[in-house]
Parts: sequence; structure tokens; C-alpha cells
Amino acid sequence: MPVGAARERAGGHPRAVPAVYEVGPNGAPVDETPGTPPPFEPYRVKVVERLPNPTAAEREAALERAHYNLFQLRSDEIRIDLLTDSGTNAMSDRQWAAMMVGDESYAGSRNFTRFESVVRKLTGFPHIFPTHQGRAAENLLFSTLCRPGSVIPNNMHFDTTQAHVLHNGGRPVNVATAAAYDPDLDAPFKGNVDIGALTRLLDLEGSEKVPLVMVTITNNTGGGQPVSLANFREVSKVAHARDIPVYLDMCRWAENAYFVREREPEMRGRSIAEIGRAFFDLADGATMSAKKDGLVNIGGFVATRDADVAARLNEAQILFEGFTTYGGLARRDLEAMAVGLEEATELEYLEHRIAQVRFLGERLSALGVPILRPVGGHAVYLDVHRFLPHLSDEELPGQALVVEIYREGGIRTVEVGSLMFGKEGDGGGPSLELVRLALPRRVYSAAQIAYVAEAVGRVFARRAAIRGLRYTHRPAHLPHFTARFAPSEEVAAKVP
Ligand SMILES: *Cc1c(COP(=O)(O)O)cnc(C)c1O
Repeated sequence: MPVGAARERAGGHPRAVPAVYEVGPNGAPVDETPGTPPPFEPYRVKVVERLPNPTAAEREAALERAHYNLFQLRSDEIRIDLLTDSGTNAMSDRQWAAMMVGDESYAGSRNFTRFESVVRKLTGFPHIFPTHQGRAAENLLFSTLCRPGSVIPNNMHFDTTQAHVLHNGGRPVNVATAAAYDPDLDAPFKGNVDIGALTRLLDLEGSEKVPLVMVTITNNTGGGQPVSLANFREVSKVAHARDIPVYLDMCRWAENAYFVREREPEMRGRSIAEIGRAFFDLADGATMSAKKDGLVNIGGFVATRDADVAARLNEAQILFEGFTTYGGLARRDLEAMAVGLEEATELEYLEHRIAQVRFLGERLSALGVPILRPVGGHAVYLDVHRFLPHLSDEELPGQALVVEIYREGGIRTVEVGSLMFGKEGDGGGPSLELVRLALPRRVYSAAQIAYVAEAVGRVFARRAAIRGLRYTHRPAHLPHFTARFAPSEEVAAKVP
């Protein structure tokens, strides 16, 4: 189909638009047939890092040593690491150059001034407090605003966000649209908030009990799906009508803005910075993990418009992180973050970024592998229930799949489902059982991504023989990091 037609179809008010929405990097048409050509990398290599190449026997030994929990692997046991896109970014030559102008003054560093002016320009928020990463920003925000008995609505809580709400005695409530829970529904804004559900919740609990409404862009837990500007405008209206502030979890705000540019007619052709600003202008503040769309390896911040909240955030920052002008980071990190935040808004970078994730999704689809659709901004998510229908939830099918993908290709992925979120305080809503293949930014080539798709395709071909796992150690908090597993022998006997 001609590109123009795809554009036309994606325009208007599509209820379900095709998986391929637009043009590829540098305006080249995206081929809709399986075996899509690899996206063109808009950068060249200046420094290389040799990839480990563990043998099958070494991988098996590593699995046993790690108790089948891939968080316990050593990086030299991994060929391709798709565990996370968090802090795994490759920094640019400009960012490395920025590190060299670090001014390591305890107070009043010029790197802070530069960082603050970039974040102010991008977001419009006047009060900005750097933190060492996103969950530290969450710690400052929720220890300041969330009290025992508070109710925190979010389209979908990310695991650390949920943990911080619970830690402060609050109750996390997920209010994502029903579409978010249908992995096979191809819709443009599956990250959206269910406005009806949010309104009912706010009417029920009242502004006394709801200190803030949070919206995560893109919705990581729900498959990296974007939130539309129209939807966020409604959220802002509903909350502000009740004097409740709205905060963005803005980790992937640039990727969200890219999807809005592609899919929301109102914003077509606008710059990423302009679209981002349209969101921020509707919000009262934000938390950021710059390990995502900040294109750095460590860093984050919390920002607000509210001067009273700002004063309390600053106190908490000094208590938990460090002084106002460094917040748990070396000052050179602030300089790298300032450069990275601006690079993340470059259209050519984002075109390649999104095309690369889509490339992986299309290669997998062509092999029949069931994935969550449409492909999101930072990762491809495997639909575990359709991949391993013969395993019950007790047999931990998501973790079993993560183990098999490592066994097959030395590729590290992560379970995003009942293991990561547990049953207690899971924010409600139906469960999604997913395995996430997150792509670090500017790190892997198209050939390496094709290798991943082939390996997962081989696992899919032998799926009927895959056995489940059982817990041998199950910690109470954030269990996915330190849980231990063993192959479930009972299950092996059941497989035909
Ligand atoms: C990564 C992430 C966080 C937490 O950030 P860290 O830097 O890992 O502490 C919070 N929310 C979302 C949506 C994330 O993806």
C-alpha cells in the first residue's frame, strides 16, 4: 500500500489503525511485508565493546548458578541484553564531551544551571530537583504528598511507582482504558486513562484522599503504549475541577510525543519539544528517570509548579539525595543529562528508535510469535498466555519463557506480569502476562535485532516441550529481582 494511503488511514479518527502507521527513518516508506528492511542507523560507531559469546554449556551453568533468575546473571554471560532500556543507553560524543566540563562544586555548580535551564525550557516547570534516578524522584514526591490512606490513580503503575505508593501507606489504583488489557487489539493510544473510571474514583474518594493523579507516558507496564494529548487533557480537566494536581511519570515522554505526532491529527507535523510542552502545560509536575529518554546511564529529577510542594521536595531531596544543585549525582552527570534530554527530542533519532522496535516486532510476527500489539515505544512484549498456553499460572510461564530465550540465544529479557507485580497491591485490573524485550537506545544494530528475532522464533517452534518453573525462594518486596526458581518436574511429565 502506498505510504500516502497509510497516512490517510491513520488520520481522521481511526478506531484501529494498522500496525505500520507511517514512514520509516529519513522518510523512507516502511515496507508492510514480512521481512521489513532494517532501519537505517542515523549514527556511526566510534567506540566498540566486544560482545560475550557464551556456549550452550556455559549458559546452562549460568542458569543454574543464577537459580533461573536472569537478574542474577553476570553481564559477561549475556550475548544480547534486552533486560531493560533503563540506563543502558549509549551516550553520544557530545554527551561525553559535556562530561569533561563537569564543575564538581558542592553548591551552585554551573552544570546545575545548565541542566535546570534545559529542563525548564522543555517542561516549563519552575522548580526542578535532580535525583540519582527515577525511583528517587518517586521517593521525594510520594514521601511529600502521599499519606497512609491516600489513593493514587495512575493509568498503570510501574513497579517502583507502586512500591513507593505502598511504602508511604497509599493505595495504587490503575485506571487504564480497557483496551490496555487486550494484547491483540491494535489501537493507537492503549496507554490512555479510562476517564469514566477516573471520574468515579475521584468522586468516591474525594480530593481529601487523592493527593495527586499520575499518568505514565508511555505506559511501560502496559506495553510501552502512548497516551494521547486529548486523553491527557481530559485527565487534567477532571482532576483540576476537583483541585487535585496532576503529575506525569515522564520517563518516556519523547517517545510518547513521537507517537502523538504520528497518530493524533491535532499534533501532526509539530516538533517533539512542542508536543511534549503541550503535555507539560496541562500538568502540575513530573517525575523523570533520565535513564530512559534522558539518554544517560544514571540520573533523574522531580519537578513541580507548586512553590509549597517545591519547598518540601527540596527538604526531602537534601535528606535522601544530596544538596539542591546535585541531588545524588556527580555534576558532570547533570551536564550529560542536559545534552541527552535535548538529543532525545531529535526527530531523526526518534524515527530510528521507534523503527528499530517495530522492526523487531515485525520480524517476530512474521515467525508467528504472539506479541502485544501495536508495538510500543521501547520494547516488544511477548504474549505469554498465547506463547505457552499449556502452562498454568502456577508454573510461572513468563519466567519459563525468559529462561528459554536465554538458553536459546544468550539473550536476556524480563517477565512483566504476576511475578513482577505480585498479587498484593497490584493496582487492580485484569492481569497481563508479558515478557519484555526492551531495546537500549542507540546500542544494538539491525543485524543483532534480527538475531534476537530468529532465536525467539526457534523457541516458539519448540514451545510445546517447554516446562514450567516453581519458586524455591520468594521475597516479600519487588520479588522479581531476587526470587529463586527451579524447573518444575511435575510439569515435565505432563507435556506430551
Ligand atoms: C524506569 C521507570 C521508573 C523508575 O526509574 P528508575 O530510574 O529505574 O529508578 C519509573 N517509572 C517508569 C514508567 C519507568 O519506566
